[in-house]
Amino acid sequence: MISMRSVDKHFGALHVLKDINLEVPAGQVVIVIGPSGSGKSTLCRTINRLESIDSGDIAIDGTPLPLEGKGLAMLRADVGMVFQSFNLFAHKTILENVTLGPIKVRKMNKKAAEELALSLLDRVGIAAQKDKLPAQLSGGQQQRVAIARALAMKPKVMLFDEPTSALDPEMVNEVLDVMTSLAREGMTMLVVTHEMGFARKAGDRVLFMADGEIVEDAPPEQFFTQAQSARARDFLGKIL
Ligand code: ADP
Ligand code: MG
Repeated sequence: MISMRSVDKHFGALHVLKDINLEVPAGQVVIVIGPSGSGKSTLCRTINRLESIDSGDIAIDGTPLPLEGKGLAMLRADVGMVFQSFNLFAHKTILENVTLGPIKVRKMNKKAAEELALSLLDRVGIAAQKDKLPAQLSGGQQQRVAIARALAMKPKVMLFDEPTSALDPEMVNEVLDVMTSLAREGMTMLVVTHEMGFARKAGDRVLFMADGEIVEDAPPEQFFTQAQSARARDFLGKIL
């Protein structure tokens, strides 16, 4: 579902992704962890082309990433992304936040888009707040709306970049619970997170990144109990 072959990326002199090779089959949940600055966000952002790459190939469900235009818009619709900052449209209601993409990009009619949005808002437990503005919701609620908004595009893949890092601790689980149920329903997911409980419960595989490289790639239990590299063991020693 996600294929990256020999992907390299620089920011000026900084070699931020070094020969990344990654194949994620449909339905797999991949956890990405690693020190700050190791390239985790850049990895996510190249997958829906929010960042360009210098060389290599990226394909989603067998389709190479288009460079621009309509193809790129459709590709982005297939790859949902949820960021650390919730990035909702501040001046639109919760319902409008979720219907906008389906109407504009998927060309859905308003009524169908609203029905879809309501069912997704219900699924993430926010339907009662549909007429409010984002600022009237808690951080955890806003992040659940951001997930519903991404799902409304009927994506093939969901990318999450530290979706709970900006939340107060008591709101972390309400977001992780939504993500866990999505994982159980078979969504293909790439999740940058340091939430080890979630990684163990929902992850099929952990990638450990350091200095722009995938240093380890192992099932969660194996990674957490017997990491192979000194860099990974050192990192785990700091966060566990
Ligand atoms: P992570 O998400 O693992 O913390 P990032 O992918 O955000 O790491 O960043 C990797 C490196 O690339 C860091 O050194 C960061 O400062 C640098 N970087 C990220 N985005 C840019 C940018 N737009 N321009 C220049 N350097 C960047
Ligand atoms: Mg990051």
